[in-house]
Amino acid sequence: MVEWSNTTDCKSVASGLRRFESFPAHKIKKPEQKLGFLIYVSARVPHLLAGRGGFEKLFIMNLKLVSNSLKRYTDPVRVEIPSRRTMKNFFKYFTATLVGVFFASFLLVPLFNQGVKNFILASVIGDSFCPQGDGKIFENEMTVYVNKTVGLPSGYVPENLIEVSNEIRSTKNGCLKREALDNLKIMFADADKGNIKLAVTSAYRSSVLQSQLYKALYALKGEKAKDRIAPPSHSEHQLGTTVDLSGESIDYVSASDRFTDTPEELWLRENAYKYGFVQSYPKGKTSITGYDYESWHYRYLGTEIAKEISEGGITIEEYFQDLKEKE
Ligand SMILES: [Zn+2]
Repeated sequence: MVEWSNTTDCKSVASGLRRFESFPAHKIKKPEQKLGFLIYVSARVPHLLAGRGGFEKLFIMNLKLVSNSLKRYTDPVRVEIPSRRTMKNFFKYFTATLVGVFFASFLLVPLFNQGVKNFILASVIGDSFCPQGDGKIFENEMTVYVNKTVGLPSGYVPENLIEVSNEIRSTKNGCLKREALDNLKIMFADADKGNIKLAVTSAYRSSVLQSQLYKALYALKGEKAKDRIAPPSHSEHQLGTTVDLSGESIDYVSASDRFTDTPEELWLRENAYKYGFVQSYPKGKTSITGYDYESWHYRYLGTEIAKEISEGGITIEEYFQDLKEKE
């Protein structure tokens, strides 16, 4: 488990990033803010260049990815893309990146402590490669009970994680278990028929990455962060069956309240259960789920259970509690 030695490391880097939400760079005066941005952008380069689908995706999708990611790490659960961002700004990013990667990778990164290095590492590789679980810990990995208080075994990695970006619309590389991915593909295809364009913006997250995100958010929001993001080893994202979804109508912005009540979100609320997906943290259920409303966060449980939850008007949490009582 990776731990921040000191949350202020994260805070100073994050505050640097936050200032860079709006270029031009000359507005950023403090050296540590410049440094934060430089390192971050540099660290993103390999990820950007790994974009699939050629020129268009590399430039257009990664334009969104850069601005998205900047916000993601300053405010990981509320991401907004500035709509007036232009290609001109993108080329500024790109130039800064090329210069930055050279300096940062060879000169600057070695100067930082492990906490900052891990943060950079997580932003580069993050959840974009698929580790493999070393054997079955759970009899049925689809129905593992996890919430704010019930955690997963330390170092748990699900079996058979598969890269999603080759097979399904997604804003970055990610991994899911085969069964969840297959059903998601069918759901996306059916949604497409009604001109509802969905994308995966976050899938499997290791406990290490979850730890980075949690600590980054905690440094920014304090205690409030606890209702917005799961602590490491307590996230449904670690199951490899859970996704954050977004839609074309909001430019596939990740984990944003802007997703609520969009055509894509309304479609999901109506139809997701048919494909085995359930919204984990519905509106008005914070006292039960422990988390604020997340219109974008869906967990795959299989069509049978999803139907039961949907028809019963209950939450996943209540479903598992009922199950425990019956035992
Ligand atoms: Zn989520």
